[in-house]
Amino acid sequence: MKKLSILGSTGSIGVNALDIVAKHPDKFQIVALAGGGNMEKMEEQIKRFRPELVALMEPESVRRLKRSLPGSNTRILSGMEGLMAVAIHPEAEMVLSALAGSVGLLPTLAAVRARKTLAIANKEPLVMAGEILQQEARDWGVCILPVDSEHSAIFQALAGNRKEDIKRLILTASGGPFLHTPVEKLAKVTPEQALNHPQWRMGKKVTIDSASLMNKGLEVIEAHWLFGVPAPQIEVLIHPQSIVHSMVEYIDGSVVAQMSIPDMRGPIAYALAYPERLDIKLPSLNLFEIGKLTFSPVDPERFPALSLAYQALKEGGTMPAVLNAANEVAVEAFLQGALGFSQISHLIRQTMARHKPIEQRSLENIMQAHAWAKHEAKQMIDRGAL
Ligand code: MG
Repeated sequence: MKKLSILGSTGSIGVNALDIVAKHPDKFQIVALAGGGNMEKMEEQIKRFRPELVALMEPESVRRLKRSLPGSNTRILSGMEGLMAVAIHPEAEMVLSALAGSVGLLPTLAAVRARKTLAIANKEPLVMAGEILQQEARDWGVCILPVDSEHSAIFQALAGNRKEDIKRLILTASGGPFLHTPVEKLAKVTPEQALNHPQWRMGKKVTIDSASLMNKGLEVIEAHWLFGVPAPQIEVLIHPQSIVHSMVEYIDGSVVAQMSIPDMRGPIAYALAYPERLDIKLPSLNLFEIGKLTFSPVDPERFPALSLAYQALKEGGTMPAVLNAANEVAVEAFLQGALGFSQISHLIRQTMARHKPIEQRSLENIMQAHAWAKHEAKQMIDRGAL
């Protein structure tokens, strides 16, 4: 029986993870859950999984939740303090880090320092502080298991092979809803169009990131830190069917790919039960029905965000944190109608141009760069400086 804490239990990854847990009560027990603002969903999860501890962001949601669960044995905390307590819960053996965005950095790091096996879906902590996270994981002897479908695919394709035999990692990208939209029309696309992803059902932030391909950019940085492969050996291919989730090419020319129908329960289950595989009752992959798998290069004019991510990784230090912070501000502004879709990458580029990266080593440097970039990007939007 594996005891689990979940950071981000009310989001898309969290809900899918709990679906797997519910179907395998002999394998997993939930000890702590942290969610964002969705009080109703958290109430359901408390009744169903009876965790010892839960956390919600807003103190007001905590008060309302306590009122609606009289006599419950579950402790309920709020804010960052709550997230940290869920991350380091003494009974948890594994923490699923599945919060959205940079808010997950401190609790994810806390879980590593508390020697929890880390299943990581929240890519921003790795993008912002991959060097620190990997160093701490080595220091504490902690295993980090990827949940992101591409990284799970690479992890699976690496099994039984030697790292020094890797020639390159090939990440696949569906291309999102704007793969065939004329480039000049991208400036005018709406949040509703951007949220309509052809293959995956995900949270809003990652769906917009998928439409701009910034998601793939963040994943290149994530792959660099997870697998210790330099950026020039990480490539991205457009693969609209989302069947091949990623590939590893070895020095002898062999390419190992991992395939499945696009369903996040696959990679989530693989990380939760690793090294075991669970029968999660997904439909079999039917290659006859799919007929053909296609691959094409990324058009840098259509998807400038991807080049920005490579640039941030190359410049190193605090630059990926700045890229990520500017992107968080840009996506939020786009969803609120304050920024056009094409301006997302403009804003990121301008924010990066104003930053001189310093070494990543201290968390303080990263938090400062993150706060600075958020402020700078917001100011540029307010000034209409794009
Ligand atoms: Mg992914």
